[in-house]
Amino acid sequence: MTYKVTKSDQEWREQLSAQEYAVLRQAGTERAWTGELLDEKRTGVYRCRACSAELFRSDTKFDSHCGWPSFYSPLAGDSVELIEDRSLGMVRTEVRCATCGSHLGHVFDDAPQTPTGDRFCMNSVSLTFEELDES
Ligand SMILES: [Zn+2]
Repeated sequence: MTYKVTKSDQEWREQLSAQEYAVLRQAGTERAWTGELLDEKRTGVYRCRACSAELFRSDTKFDSHCGWPSFYSPLAGDSVELIEDRSLGMVRTEVRCATCGSHLGHVFDDAPQTPTGDRFCMNSVSLTFEELDES
């Protein structure tokens, strides 16, 4: 996979905070219930914190009670990349930004209350939020 945005490890370290680097570039996970976007309910767009690509819209965000911001669908099918993740003795599906390859979180098919049944479980530090005027 070749990404539109590619940077060296050194460049990512300079651009991102230590916590952002640990999640986005080393597939870390922020502690549950600590993310700043968890309770964000305004209308707007969520972008990749590493490359600013648009990833999610607020109208697909839902309250999953899992401790991380959750969406039932990405903005477009090709805005994220899904990769099988067999770490930690589990089979999960990792979600990465399709533009820069940064780690965003995981997707689970355990949300029957949503239109897709999917729960894109994202790290707040992987995203930035931009409020849009609803009028
Ligand atoms: Zn990105």
